[in-house]
Formats: sequence, structure tokens, C-alpha cells
Amino acid sequence: MNLAGILNDLSEIIFPPQCLGCAEILHPFNGQIFCPDCLEQIHFISGSICNICGTTFPDSPSQNHLCGDCQETKPYFSCARAIFSYDDAILNAIYQFKYKSNISVGEILADFMGGFSFPDIDFADYSFIIPVPLHIKRLRERGFNQSLILARAIGEKHQISVDFSLLKRHKFTLTQTGSNKKERKQNIKGAFEVTDKKKIAGKSIILIDDVYTTGATVNECAKTLLKAGAQKVSVLTLARVLTH
Ligand SMILES: [Zn+2]
Ligand SMILES: [Zn+2]
Repeated sequence: MNLAGILNDLSEIIFPPQCLGCAEILHPFNGQIFCPDCLEQIHFISGSICNICGTTFPDSPSQNHLCGDCQETKPYFSCARAIFSYDDAILNAIYQFKYKSNISVGEILADFMGGFSFPDIDFADYSFIIPVPLHIKRLRERGFNQSLILARAIGEKHQISVDFSLLKRHKFTLTQTGSNKKERKQNIKGAFEVTDKKKIAGKSIILIDDVYTTGATVNECAKTLLKAGAQKVSVLTLARVLTH
């Protein structure tokens, strides 16, 4: 065993892994981040969804169709798909990853996202994966871009190159927690720019973010990419806020 392995084993004895949902100690540690009880409460997005934004419907109709929001204002992205509903245990896991710099939780989440088969996404159609960029000020504060970690796992799995330099966030925005859809849209307007238009011209792109809340951020990214000449932008996120 190498030094990293020994240190890892030691740290598990000193700081035994705890369930991210309820803080129960996990035995034995095998890369799980939730206890069985919390695992049961994690909701995968399933059933019929909006063809574009991927939201679920309260009455579970038999087929996918457009939701009211997408009928009213068509988003710039072609489709947005997420794995989990953003609640309970998943919310806490993403919080630990993003705000508590728990990179090992991030790696488990990234592995999971990389291995997840998004059923209506044909990865062969896409030329690039681009993570939603952080402003340089935020990146320095946090030390890493959570979306890039997720993007790399997907890129590796599907053999698509990840380019985090093509899209830049040049406008610093305060955290959007608590803002409504309209405020978020206004807040994020004009926040992004494409650094190399030639490289993305005519290309189909997968955009990665950790959470889809109102869609304002990914939609602004998609708008910026399309205006710079991209052909199509599809969005994948780990979790999605569902309104019902
Ligand atoms: Zn638990
Ligand atoms: Zn929709």
C-alpha cells in the first residue's frame, strides 16, 4: 500500500465517514456517502418530464411534453436533464462538496454522474463539454469549480473533451439563493462571454452545472454560446429543483 492509501485508512479511523444525510457513522466505509435509510429517501427524477427543461409534472401524464414555462418562453438550450430531485440528502451532499470543500464527496458525486446514462442524450452528437464557469473571484474563494469536477467525470466516461476556457464569467454576481426567477434572470444577464468563437462555431455542446434551480444561469450560458455560433447546447446537472 502506498502512503496515500495508508493516510486514507488512518483518516477513516480518526474521522470515520458519516452519512451526509443524518451524520450516522458508516461501517464499513466503501465509498458510500449515505446510510441505507437516507439512500432510500433520495429521489431520482423519473416519469414523464418536459421535453426541454426536464421538469416533472404533478399529474404524471403518460408522455413527455412541454411545460407551461417552456411553452411561454422557449429556453436557449435544447434540453436540460438532471439525475436527482434537489432535496434532503442530495442537497446536503452538494452543500458539503461546494461550500465545505469536501472534495471526496464531490468525487463520489462526479463518479456517479459520469456513470449515469442520460437516456435521451446521445453523447456522440457533442463536440465539447463546458462547465458553467465561476467568476475568478469566486473561484479563488472556493479553490475549485464544482461543475468542472463533474464535467471531467462525464468527459472521461464518454470520451468528449472538456474545455473550461471557452466560456468565461466576467460579471461577478452575488449568490442567487433566495432570488426568484425574474431576479435571477436579470442578475445573470450578460455575465458570460465566449473566448474563442472559431472553436465553437457550428458545434454541439454539453453544458454542466451542479444544480438546476430556475434555469437562469444555464440559459444565459446557452444564449451566449449560441450567439457566438454554437449549433446546439444541452444541459446536464446533478440535481434539479422541482416545483412540486
Ligand atoms: Zn443517513
Ligand atoms: Zn419546460
